[in-house]
Amino acid sequence: IVKRAYNFNAGPSALPEIVLQQAQEELLNFRDTGMSVMELSHRSKEFETIHNEAQSLLKELLNIPENYEILFLQGGASLQFTMVPMNFLNGNEIGNYVLTGVWSEKALKEAKILGRATTVAASTKEENYSRIPNLSELIVSPEDAYLHITSNNTIYGTQWKDFPETKDSMLIADMSSDILSKPLPIERFAMIYAGAQKNLGPSGVTVVIVRKDLLEKVSSSSIPTVLRYDTHAINNSLYNTPPTFSIYMLNKVLHWVKDLGGVKEIATANEIKASLLYDVIDQSNGFYRGHAEKDSRSLMNVTFQLPTNELDKKFLAEAKEAGFIGLNGHRSVGGCRASLYNAVPYEACKALQQFMIMFKEENQ
Ligand code: PMP
Repeated sequence: IVKRAYNFNAGPSALPEIVLQQAQEELLNFRDTGMSVMELSHRSKEFETIHNEAQSLLKELLNIPENYEILFLQGGASLQFTMVPMNFLNGNEIGNYVLTGVWSEKALKEAKILGRATTVAASTKEENYSRIPNLSELIVSPEDAYLHITSNNTIYGTQWKDFPETKDSMLIADMSSDILSKPLPIERFAMIYAGAQKNLGPSGVTVVIVRKDLLEKVSSSSIPTVLRYDTHAINNSLYNTPPTFSIYMLNKVLHWVKDLGGVKEIATANEIKASLLYDVIDQSNGFYRGHAEKDSRSLMNVTFQLPTNELDKKFLAEAKEAGFIGLNGHRSVGGCRASLYNAVPYEACKALQQFMIMFKEENQ
């Protein structure tokens, strides 16, 4: 038996053990091809099956309607920060951004670098991004080409619970750190994108779910071929060599979610996992202080601090010693962060809960 760490990494992060085992079993000889998936042609029948099956599983699991295209791109979510304004802001059209953390700031920054018109619908920066703005705080206009949100803020541990109505403008979401963690009202979004390395698989592939009619909006002939959404849509994401191994792992992770019963079951499990830790925080008489305001709390990233920096350090050192990996908070927030993505088992969360209770008793 291989000893596996309690992995709370923020991304790349834990993968289902069974998926890794299957990949290991198939590594030298994938389905009697006499070669690894990594050695297959991306134009082969075998790879085509993996690729198309991953698309249809995602469609099934997230209930994605027919009028959406599913693309597998490269360049991470970060390249989407550029591709979104490049493809969807023509002329003087305005991209409206809700700032809920560093990743949304970075998305806005790329639109500005491109010289596109932008505006900010709301920002909680002054509060160190400890909450998601209320829907009533958002300054939106039917004139906006799109409203861009970050559905889960990996660094601060905040998550949107409800999504804004945008009527005439498109709602575009960076869902890198919570896609596939719960059912989604896909029809409300014009486009969703997510780097795979949290809930979907290893890094290397970025999933884009985009409404087909938007592709006709990509009009500017000044956009380089590989940066156009329509290029990838027309070529079923095989315009150039895709990250084949990442797509293969994505396929396996999607099968795993389906076998567990789908995203509803995953969502229930995620709520139970997160409440193990939030309960400790709430019942600690202030020993553990959550960074996020309660109604903005993320089920994916639980962020907290101890009473002093010294105790933060001691906690992190002892946790590491006890086999809990990846609990350091992001450098911009400090403290601690436990990322509880889909593949982090209940047992790991339970063990961390016990460790937090014990640490508090010994150090308060
Ligand atoms: N958006 C969010 C919400 C993220 O958490 C991250 C990565 N942690 C990114 C974007 C950037 O993703 P990538 O590294 O795939 O470019």
